[in-house]
Amino acid sequence: MLKIGSHVGMGGKEKMLGSVNEALSYNANCFMIYTGAPQNTRRSDISILKIPEAHELMIENDIPLENVVVHAPYIMNLANPDPEKRKFAIDFLTEEVKRTSLMGAGQIVVHPGSHLNQGPEKGMEHIINGLKVVLENTVDLNTKIALETMAGKGTEVGISFEEIGYMITEINSDRITVCFDTCHTHDAGYELSDFDNVLKDFDKYIGRNKISVFHINDSKNSKGSHKDRHENIGFGYIGFESLLKIINHLDFINIPKILETPYVTEFEDSKNKVFPPYKYEIDMIKSNKFDSDLLKKIREKV
Ligand code: FE
Ligand code: FE
Ligand code: ZN
Repeated sequence: MLKIGSHVGMGGKEKMLGSVNEALSYNANCFMIYTGAPQNTRRSDISILKIPEAHELMIENDIPLENVVVHAPYIMNLANPDPEKRKFAIDFLTEEVKRTSLMGAGQIVVHPGSHLNQGPEKGMEHIINGLKVVLENTVDLNTKIALETMAGKGTEVGISFEEIGYMITEINSDRITVCFDTCHTHDAGYELSDFDNVLKDFDKYIGRNKISVFHINDSKNSKGSHKDRHENIGFGYIGFESLLKIINHLDFINIPKILETPYVTEFEDSKNKVFPPYKYEIDMIKSNKFDSDLLKKIREKV
């Protein structure tokens, strides 16, 4: 069965129970959460996250625990040239991996890092060493760390399959996998309208069995733009047909597909009120038919 969902919140009183309820409201059967705000590293104690209640609700609704994905905060940078900041990133990721395991989720998505003008080689060296320490620190856990394919904004590392493959080969652990982000790979220059050809290239450096989660996003920019601005499904430069082929690809039936598309504003060009598009996008994906009025409908329904 297709595993489709979106990123959901975990703030508010209900914590992880709220996350499950949000996912259910979108008719999703998988979801992704940040263990706190993605832009900072303050985290609440695991005991108040309502994990048992969340698991119970998941069981009632046939959502397997393996369908939960955690995302590490994106300000954490394993490639930082400052050794103290690198150490902070390693320690923080170690705690995040433990939290991921306690939440029952099988994997945590991590942005490899930004080399900040040391050059990608040096950046990759730091990332490889950092991840080895994190794996060592959590050796008794089987939580996977999924390295996300990046768009190449700024000095990001992990833009090409070659770079990701190099890091994976050097780390050499079953626990390191890949998060394939469609907006990012498109922005990095891959032609997603020919996904089988992209996979051939992926196999050359990594191997498609390493993909443990997809981020399904359209892109506001043309191929190779290195911008990393997500667009609603079918409304960007990748397009509905290409995304649908990836979503329904037979090699990835059991792999969670997570939408990270932007919220829709009440009026075009306004920033006042925003509405999550996920219920509507999931509907559209399941029905296999692009609806060019979708954004308008989202605005009017709510
Ligand atoms: Fe990400
Ligand atoms: Fe992503
Ligand atoms: Zn992105």
